[in-house]
Amino acid sequence: MSDPNCLFCKIAAREIPSEILRESERVVAFRDINQKAPVHILLIPKEHLESLADVADHHGDVLADLFQAAAHLARTEAIDKSGWRLIANNGPDAGQEVFHLHFHLLGGEPLGPLVAPKR
Ligand code: 5GP
Ligand code: ZN
Repeated sequence: MSDPNCLFCKIAAREIPSEILRESERVVAFRDINQKAPVHILLIPKEHLESLADVADHHGDVLADLFQAAAHLARTEAIDKSGWRLIANNGPDAGQEVFHLHFHLLGGEPLGPLVAPKR
């Protein structure tokens, strides 16, 4: 269920401090330590999954909880009307740094293009 060497498992277990905003049976949400927008929250399943590549048939409930928590937090952070973005980085080309599945909830200002033009 959890990985003793995983940063986000430790945050979910409150072994490492963070600003936890919401916790349910399956999901924890906390502020990203390096805010890339006025609102920047990470949503994680309590179960240790490395990325979306680990999602299996029995994870329907946890995915629903993650998306519902994101919509709830968008309302409580007052960005539901202005708009928000939910991103999951998976693997090297996406720049994933922490290998415990997480969604970034971003908003509070115009976020610009999803992918910066490279060519
Ligand atoms: P990734 O690049 O894997 O999609 O995102 C990892 C995110 O975790 C980054 O935005 C980074 O700022 C955040 N992060 C890394 N270490 C910590 C930490 O100890 N606490 C919190 N709250 N966020 C962290
Ligand atoms: Zn973990």
